[in-house]
Amino acid sequence: MKKLLALGLFFLLSNCSTVPVTGRRQLSLLPASQLQQMSYTSYKQFLDTNKVVGNGSNVETVRRVGVRIQKAVETYMAQNNLTNQLEGFAWEFNVVESPQVNAWCMPGGKVVVYTGILPITQTETGLAVVMGHEIAHAIAKHGDERMSESLLANGLLQGGQIAAGANPKVINQLLLQAVGAGAQLTMLSHSRKQESEADRIGLIFMAMAGYNPSEAVPFWERMAAKSGGNKPPEFLSTHPSDERRIRDIQGLLPEASKYYSK
Ligand SMILES: [Zn+2]
Repeated sequence: MKKLLALGLFFLLSNCSTVPVTGRRQLSLLPASQLQQMSYTSYKQFLDTNKVVGNGSNVETVRRVGVRIQKAVETYMAQNNLTNQLEGFAWEFNVVESPQVNAWCMPGGKVVVYTGILPITQTETGLAVVMGHEIAHAIAKHGDERMSESLLANGLLQGGQIAAGANPKVINQLLLQAVGAGAQLTMLSHSRKQESEADRIGLIFMAMAGYNPSEAVPFWERMAAKSGGNKPPEFLSTHPSDERRIRDIQGLLPEASKYYSK
């Protein structure tokens, strides 16, 4: 029994990493390089089978915001001796034509923004709220956590690797779910803990990228108006209610504002 406990502890300690900004310890069952590999295959497949917007002002704005946030992330990680966590990243920012109110970032920095969210982001700063938040999920390795959990639940892990006979289609599906690509409304797919974490980290990244983090409040008010009354009450959902989220974000603004210079 003691031996088993020791073994379990060793397993946990050797498979933990730390979330930037919040310092939370998290379990990661797969090497980042393996997740990135899956992510890059999945992303390419997604782009091949969806309507990618090739050019125009929306694409230009998404790429400009993306690159500015990428640079902010790189600066933050360098300042905190965490640059090794960006190893293997291959950032990419694409716009997909779809009525879905959604955006996501896969492990390794592969971002998609759906045209359906643009009427709610409205401005470049509004877009920075969304992209900062989604990129924060990736930097905090939330997709990795969820992917580890679902692989484990589906019996697809063997000795810290994806099981040899695992169906690539199933893996692809799990990864899309893990980053919230299937959700109708953005940011409804992660746990409350992950959402709060992405809000906090995302505000810092957008502020460092030169976007006023206080714009997150009107953005979430517009999101709340959009999602309207057809949501389950907060106690039934793992997602923070809009009012609670807006209140929490107001509480996070003093911290984020320190990173913002006009
Ligand atoms: Zn989210």
